[in-house]
Amino acid sequence: MHTFPSRDRVIVAGAGPVGLTAALALARAGVEVLVLEARDAPDDGERLASASLQPATLDQLAVLGVDRALAALGRRVERLQWRDRTGTIHNQLHMASLAMLTDHPFRLNLDYSRLTAILLSKLARTNARIRFAAEVDGLTDAGGSVRVHAAGEWHSARYLIAADGAASRIRSMVGARPGPTGRPMRLLRLRTPTQLDELLPRLAPLTYVHDEVQPCTVQALPGHWLVTLPIPDTTAEGPLTRAQMGALARRAIALGPGHRLKVAHARWHSSASSLLRSYRYGHVLFAGDAAHVLPDLGDDLGLNAGLQGAVDLGRVLAAVMGAAASPAALEDWSQRRSTSLARHLRALAGTCPNAAPTHDAALDRVRAMNSDRDAGHAWLTRSALLPLQPLTYARSA
Ligand SMILES: Cc1cc2nc3c(=O)[nH]c(=O)nc-3n(C[C@H](O)[C@H](O)[C@H](O)COP(=O)(O)OP(=O)(O)OC[C@H]3O[C@@H](n4cnc5c(N)ncnc54)[C@H](O)[C@@H]3O)c2cc1C
Repeated sequence: MHTFPSRDRVIVAGAGPVGLTAALALARAGVEVLVLEARDAPDDGERLASASLQPATLDQLAVLGVDRALAALGRRVERLQWRDRTGTIHNQLHMASLAMLTDHPFRLNLDYSRLTAILLSKLARTNARIRFAAEVDGLTDAGGSVRVHAAGEWHSARYLIAADGAASRIRSMVGARPGPTGRPMRLLRLRTPTQLDELLPRLAPLTYVHDEVQPCTVQALPGHWLVTLPIPDTTAEGPLTRAQMGALARRAIALGPGHRLKVAHARWHSSASSLLRSYRYGHVLFAGDAAHVLPDLGDDLGLNAGLQGAVDLGRVLAAVMGAAASPAALEDWSQRRSTSLARHLRALAGTCPNAAPTHDAALDRVRAMNSDRDAGHAWLTRSALLPLQPLTYARSA
């Protein structure tokens, strides 16, 4: 049986946004990288609606020179708002207040497929190789390297990055079990070309609409808006027609009579959060959804934490590969990431309106931020994921 030689390379399993980002970080640092992807072709983003990239994520992507290309295709969000269905605005926060902490004091909303397309085009300009239709289905980790089986061939490498998504097979190959699983959340995401800010006065490009019965999040993207509705498990998916979904969203955002909400695209998304306790198992390193599926609180936390973690891992692993750091640095990376993420989730659970146990508690949290500027700023900093920023990140002058 033929084994492709390792020399000093890293294999990345999964060409999702996290795997591609890790591969780009390594390739830019001069490490030989092979990406193995199960799909026949790049993910066209069909299952996903959008990505909302947080300031700290944009800071990290800037290190890879990807932020400008993304900015040209995304919509900046500089104002966040909480309102209710009567149109009463309970609070607004302006991201410009983060300018002392980040080079990107805004979120960037863009089509998900654009993100992977840009990463692929940047990767094409490096020495990294990508093989599609190459699902990793076997693995051995011994003697200071890994051997990875995909599409009938063995490939060896010093390390494997498992970025194979929430249903990671590699987790079970190394005997890694995710920790406590959170309550499953079920979301309906509707994309509409209806320009909602023309119909709802003072609507911000990111608005959380609080309501006891049907809360929702509304976000602006280039050319369209996205309405995300948490839907209890008791509601059947199948029977809802586009018109019914549109009516549901219209009620949730309280569009007046006579205003139609055209549904261009609808997607269900359900996930239960789970975390690996360690992101390192021998020479296998877990990143993105394979390492952590995070609660969706309207901030695309999972994707953002995954992208930041990928840049961080690329930096640490490149140092280990180049003998500038010892392999122990990878254990430090794993502990630092998992501890800071767990701490971040605890802080969100205690302060984030979207994580509040009841509607009244959510509004109390929103009003508390309104009356206490420091509390508002602290929430904004946390939701921008700035506390998760790797310690080595240095702002430009
Ligand atoms: C239906 C749905 C809707 C979502 N909507 C949003 C959204 O709107 N916004 C948002 O921020 N997040 C959303 N998420 C979450 C988001 O998809 C993830 O957080 C993000 O994609 C994680 O990136 P990743 O690269 O870790 O994993 P993935 O994007 O899942 O990529 C994993 C890659 O690994 C490949 N792969 C799997 N197994 C193997 C294997 N054995 N060998 C080789 N390759 C393999 C897969 O084909 C895939 O390309 C959604 C998730 C789902 C399921």
